[in-house]
Formats: sequence, structure tokens, C-alpha cells
Amino acid sequence: MDKQISFLDQLFDRGILYDSAVDGLYARSGIFEDVIARFEDLAKSFGKDETSEAMVFPPGLPMKDFETSGYMKNFPQLAGTVHAFCGNDHDHAGLLQCLASGEDWTKNQKATDIALTPAACYPLYPILARRGPLPATGAYVALQSYCYRHEPSREPTRMQMFRQREFVRVGNSEQAIEFRETWKKRGQEIMKLLQLPCHVEVANDPFFGRAGKIMGSSQREQELKFELVVPINSEASPTACMSFNYHMDNFGKAWNIRQADGSHAYTACVGFGLERIALALFRHHGLETENWPTNVRKVLWG
Ligand code: ATP
Ligand code: ZN
Repeated sequence: MDKQISFLDQLFDRGILYDSAVDGLYARSGIFEDVIARFEDLAKSFGKDETSEAMVFPPGLPMKDFETSGYMKNFPQLAGTVHAFCGNDHDHAGLLQCLASGEDWTKNQKATDIALTPAACYPLYPILARRGPLPATGAYVALQSYCYRHEPSREPTRMQMFRQREFVRVGNSEQAIEFRETWKKRGQEIMKLLQLPCHVEVANDPFFGRAGKIMGSSQREQELKFELVVPINSEASPTACMSFNYHMDNFGKAWNIRQADGSHAYTACVGFGLERIALALFRHHGLETENWPTNVRKVLWG
């Protein structure tokens, strides 16, 4: 049996995750959630002196802001939108008939004004923009969100619904770049404390289509994105557990976020894939958290 499948099956067998009929959509056990909560506390302890605000987002963002993000231009294959029934009695009767006969009942569902959040930091930018120009110190926000990406897979590390914890820096280009470099180091320190093998490498986002290939190589050339990878499913292709992103002033321009001097703001974010980090810990230290190395337990549970 494939090694990836067997890790997923082990997680189900031990009741760490619970299967559904949909690949990449799993219920989490108490212990899995506890590992994530402990990891989040650890990550937050690293950024605590700089962070000025904390936010947790629901898993959807306004459709208007989703459009502004450019996600449909770059990653249409991954996006999800919320649709709802908006019909009358007659439409409802038709829907029930479709359901009863096993036909597609969703064809008259209408798009709502909510899209599923594809990346945890997107809902932050319009909030900052609405406040007007930033102070000279910029903004430094700790946040968390459930995210959705339409990438069904039996690799346990590729879920359709998962959480990202992020730190986001908004200000001038020096502030954004310095933040990203600091977190590259901190990410590796965190993984050392957790005794997880890792390395940081330059990366690119999965831009769609033929034009996307060019965008991906340009992103790599400019070293805008780095990932911290850990072997989880296989040694040969380690999995991105953290990403360190510099967006230049793209989001500042898209959402009209201004610096104190009126120019567009620069942004950077570090994203922790919470489920992937929990899975890396279970993969490397075993399925019983009581048997994890003493120092790892100390770092997480004190
Ligand atoms: P990948 O290259 O593996 O598809 P990505 O480059 O799309 O990941 P980012 O957009 O940088 O990932 O997302 C930030 C972090 O969120 C990733 O480093 C990863 O830890 C996590 N993540 C991304 N996609 C998934 C997923 N499908 N399931 C679980 N975690 C994910
Ligand atoms: Zn981000």
C-alpha cells in the first residue's frame, strides 16, 4: 500500500482524524486540536513583542474583497464560493423533486456575497484600508482563519479545509522585508524546538494555466516566496509547513492601503499550515503524544 495512504489510515485508526466521504475534509480529534492550540501558543510567543493586534476570521470573506484580491485571475482552480437557495415555492418544489430523483438540485443555487477564504490574510487588508493612512510604525497583526482550497487529495497534508496562522506586516518595503527575514529564522528555530527536520527554500504559488508558469518563474526569480519544508508524506518531496511571503505593494495597491506619507503600503506575511505542522509532529514523533520526546512535550505543554 502507498505510504501516504497508510499514514492517513493510521490517523483514522487511532482516532486522530475522522474520515468523511470527501477527500481532504476531515473531523479533528481533541488531541489533534490540542497539538494545534499548543503550537499556536508557541508561535505567538515568538511574535509577541511586535504584534499590535490579533484577529480570528470566519472562513468566508466578502465577495467584493475576494474579487479585489485577484484570486480568480491567478488561482481559479482552487477557489470556492458560497451559493444559496434564493427561489420561491415553485423553485423549492423543483429542488425537492431533483433531490428525490437524484438529479442535480444545485443548478439554481445563486452566488451569495461571500467567498470561502483562500488565504488567511486576505480579510485583513480591507480592514486596514478602511482605517485610512497607517501610522509610521505600520501594522503588525497576528491572525488565524480556516481556509478553503479545491484540491481534493488523499495526501493527509493536502486538505480542502485547513487553518493558517499568520503574522502580517504592513508598512514600507524595509519593514516588510525585515519582518520576512526575521520570521524565516524564527520558523527554523521553532522547528528545531519541535525536533522536526526542515529546510527553507525558494518557492512559487500554483498560478493557473500557461500564463501562470511565467508568473511562477518570475516569483521565484524575485525571491518573493520561501517555504519551510518538512518530510511528511515522503523524503523525496517534503511538504511546505510554513511560507514566508513578500507581496511588494501589490496588496497595498489592490486594496488602497496607504502609508503615513500617502504612498501605497508594502506587505509581507508568514503563514503556518496548522494541520500540516500537527501532522509533521505525529509523523516524526509517533501517534501517541505521551511518547513524544520529553523536550518537545515541554516546549508544547510546559
Ligand atoms: P502547496 O505548495 O503545498 O500547495 P501553497 O504554496 O499553496 O502550498 P501557501 O499558499 O503559501 O501554500 O499557504 C500557506 C501554508 O498553508 C502552506 O505553507 C501550508 O503549510 C498550508 N497549506 C496550503 N495548502 C494547504 C492544504 N491544501 N492543506 C493543508 N495545508 C495547506
Ligand atoms: Zn498571507
